[in-house]
Amino acid sequence: MLSAIIEKENIETVEKLFSASEKIVIVTHVSPDGDALGSSLGLYHYLVGRGKKVQIIVPNAYPDFLNWLPGVKTIYRYDKKEKEAKEAISEADLICCLDFNTLSRINELAEPVRGATCKKIMIDHHLDPEPFCDVTISHPPISSTSELVFRLIYRLGGYEELSFQAAECIYTGMMTDTGGFTYSSNQPEIYTVISALLAKGIDKDVIYRRVFYTYSENRLRLMGYVLYEKMQVYPSFRSALICLSREEQKKFTFSKGDTEGFVNLPLQMKGIKFSVFFREDTEQNMIKISLRSVGTFPCNKVASEFFGGGGHLNASGGEFYGKMEDAVLLFKQALIKYESLLQIEEN
Ligand code: 5GP
Ligand code: MN
Repeated sequence: MLSAIIEKENIETVEKLFSASEKIVIVTHVSPDGDALGSSLGLYHYLVGRGKKVQIIVPNAYPDFLNWLPGVKTIYRYDKKEKEAKEAISEADLICCLDFNTLSRINELAEPVRGATCKKIMIDHHLDPEPFCDVTISHPPISSTSELVFRLIYRLGGYEELSFQAAECIYTGMMTDTGGFTYSSNQPEIYTVISALLAKGIDKDVIYRRVFYTYSENRLRLMGYVLYEKMQVYPSFRSALICLSREEQKKFTFSKGDTEGFVNLPLQMKGIKFSVFFREDTEQNMIKISLRSVGTFPCNKVASEFFGGGGHLNASGGEFYGKMEDAVLLFKQALIKYESLLQIEEN
C-alpha cells in the first residue's frame, strides 16, 4: 500500500529497540504544535497498545485547541513537572525524539535527554538532523512527523491494531503541519495514509472544526486588529510583516495559540510570497519569529541567516534578542538581500 520510505535497516533496529524496552519516553519540541503532539500521542497509543509504559514529556505549554487530543492529559510539561520528568527519563529504556532535529529545540529538557544513557531514536522531517540519536529516521520531504509515525507503525505491522485514538492524533498532526492539506501535501501517498486513518473511524471534518474553529472571541478580535492596524505590506518585495508587542497581546488577553496562523494571513494577498510575524514573547525576553513563503522562496534561509533559526522551505522560525525596531531593520536587510529571489515569477 505504501512505498518503503523508511530504510529497512532502521525498521529492524526500531523493532528490536521497541521489543527490548519496557519503559519508553517520548519528547517533542518547545511550544508543541499539532504535529509535535499528534506524532507523540500517535506513537504513545501504539506503544501502550504493545504493553509498554510510556511517558510523553514536552518542554512547555501547548495551545488550547489541542487539549482534546486523546491522551493529552497524561503528558508531563517539563516547566511544571521537572522532577517527575527527570525521573521518567532516568528510568527509561528508550527515548523517542519526535518532530525536532537538534537538542536546542527542547530547551532545558536537552540536558537530561543528552545525559540519558539509554538508546535514542529520532523521528523527524526537518532538514539537517544533528547526530544525537542512535537511530535517525529523518525524511524532510514527508509532510509531517505524524505521517512518518504512521509509516513506521505500518511497517512494523501495527496497522491492524492501530486504535481510533492513535488515528485521531496522527491525522491531527498531518492536518496541522500542512495547513489543512493546503501546502507540503502534494505527494499522492499522503492520501493513502489519510484513507487508512479514515478506515479507523475518524471524522476528519470534526477534527478540522475542533482544531481550526474553536477560537476565542479574543483571538478573532486580535486578528482583526492585526490585519487592520499592524500588517505592513512591501509590494515591491512581495512581502509583508506583522509585529505584535507584549502590551498589545495583553490588551487582547492573549493566551497561547491565539496568534497561531497569523503569519499565513498576508499570503492570501495576490502577489505576496513572503510573510513574517514578530511577536514579543510573553514568557521569555525575546521576539519569536515566524516566517512563511509560497513557491520556491526559501524562508528557512532567511530564518537561519538573520534570526538564528531554521525550518522548512516554506515554513520556518527563529528568535531575536533585542528591540522590535532592530528586528524590523534586520527584516528589511533580508528583503534587500533576497530581492532577486522575491521577484521570480511563479504560479
Ligand atoms: P512556527 O512559525 O509555526 O513557530 O514554526 C514553523 C517551523 O519553523 C517549525 O515547524 C520549525 O520547523 C521551525 N522553527 C520555528 N522556530 C524555530 C527556531 O527557533 N529554530 C529553528 N531552527 N526552527 C524553528
Ligand atoms: Mn512537524
